[in-house]
Amino acid sequence: MSILSSSLSRIKPSPTIAVTQKARELKEKGVDVISLGAGEPDFDTPDNVKEAAIRAINSGDTKYTAVDGTPKLKEAIINKFKKENGLEFSKDQINVGAGGKQVIFNAILSTINPGDEVLIPAPYWVSYPDIVLLAGGTPKIVICDEKDEFKITSQKLKKNLNSKTKWIILNSPSNPTGSCYSKDEIDAIADILKDYPEVMVMSDDIYEHVVYDNFKFYTIAQNKNVTDRTLTINGVSKSYAMTGWRIGYAGGPKDLIKAMAKIQSQSTTNPSSISQAAAVEALNGDQSFIKDRSDAFKERRDFVVSKLNKINGIECLNPQGAFYVFPSCKGCIGKTHSELGEIKNDTDFVSKLLESTGVAVVQGSAFGLEGFFRISYATSMTNLEKAVERISDFCSKLS
Ligand code: PLP
Repeated sequence: MSILSSSLSRIKPSPTIAVTQKARELKEKGVDVISLGAGEPDFDTPDNVKEAAIRAINSGDTKYTAVDGTPKLKEAIINKFKKENGLEFSKDQINVGAGGKQVIFNAILSTINPGDEVLIPAPYWVSYPDIVLLAGGTPKIVICDEKDEFKITSQKLKKNLNSKTKWIILNSPSNPTGSCYSKDEIDAIADILKDYPEVMVMSDDIYEHVVYDNFKFYTIAQNKNVTDRTLTINGVSKSYAMTGWRIGYAGGPKDLIKAMAKIQSQSTTNPSSISQAAAVEALNGDQSFIKDRSDAFKERRDFVVSKLNKINGIECLNPQGAFYVFPSCKGCIGKTHSELGEIKNDTDFVSKLLESTGVAVVQGSAFGLEGFFRISYATSMTNLEKAVERISDFCSKLS
C-alpha cells in the first residue's frame, strides 16, 4: 500500500524547477552548461532592501507577525496599489504570503469545490493547473494562438465560460510568453465577464514592472465591471530581484482575503518577519533602479529575438514584457540531428539541445503548448551570446 495521498498523484513536480535542477547537476559534473531555464532576475537585491532586513534582525523584528502581513507592509502595499494602479484597498483586503505562489495557493484552496472549473489560458505558468488539481478542481485549459500573441481573445473566453467556471486566471506580462494585454484587450475581457457575475478573476501581475517599448501596464481590477470580484496578485520576487525572500501579496474582496488568511494560519502562519521588513523598504524606497533594470532586459530581449529569428527552423515573436521569449521550434521537429537522431517533439528538442550543447531551456508543452520552448533571458549578455550561437549550431546540424 502506498503511503502517499491520492491528491499527490494528480500533480507533477514543477518542470521549470526540474530543468534548473538538471542544469545544476550537469554543471556539478563539469559540463559547460548555460541555464536559460530559471525564472528569476540575475540582478542582486538592492542594497537599501538588504539593509532594511539587517536592521530588522538587529532590532529584534524576528518574531511571529500577524498571519497575513504586518500593518506596515500592508500599508506599503495599499499605497503601491493606489499610486501605481489606482486601486483602493483597506488592510482587511490584503493578503501577504510566502511568495506569489502561496497567495495563489491560498486563493484556490479557499474557493474550489470538486467540479469547479478554473479557466487557464495556455501557454500558462506551470503551477496554475497543478494548484487547481491539488485543490480538487478542474483546470479548463484554453489554447491561445501565436497569431494572437498567445493571448486569450474575448470570443475564446466566451466560448469556454460556463456555470461551473469559478475563476479565470490572467497573467500579463506573461510567463512563459512575455506577452502583455493592452487596456483594450483587458476591457474586452471584462466586458464578456459582465454576463458572468459569479466568475472570479485572478490577475497575476507579478511581472508588472518588467515592460518595454513604453508599454502602459493596465490591470483588470481597474475595470469597474470586475473590480469587486478580482484578486490582484503581485510580489517583490521579480520586480525587486527578491525571489529568495519569499514575499507575495494580493488585494481583493474582504471575504476571500479572510478565507485566505484562515488557510495560511493553518499552514505557514506569517511569511518571514525579516523579509516583510525588507519588502516594506522595497515598496516604499527608491524605485529608479526598476527602469535601469528594464532597460537592461530590453537590450537582451532585442538581442535574443533578432538572433533567434536568423536561425533556420526557429521563429520568435517580440514580446513587450517579462524576461522570457517563447520561440517556435516547429521548423526543427521531424528533422534529424547528425549525431542524436530525429527530433520528435519539443521535449525531444530541448533535451537533445541540452545534451549536445549544454543550453538548458524548457519545452513549450510544460506550459501547455507544444512546438515551442521558453528562454529566460535573465542572464548576462555573454551567456546569451554563447547560448544563441550554440542553438544556431545545433539547428544547423538538423536536416
Ligand atoms: N506567477 C508567475 C507568473 C510566476 O512566473 C511566478 C514565479 O515564477 C509566480 C507567480 C510566483 O512567484 P513567487 O512565488 O516567487 O513570488
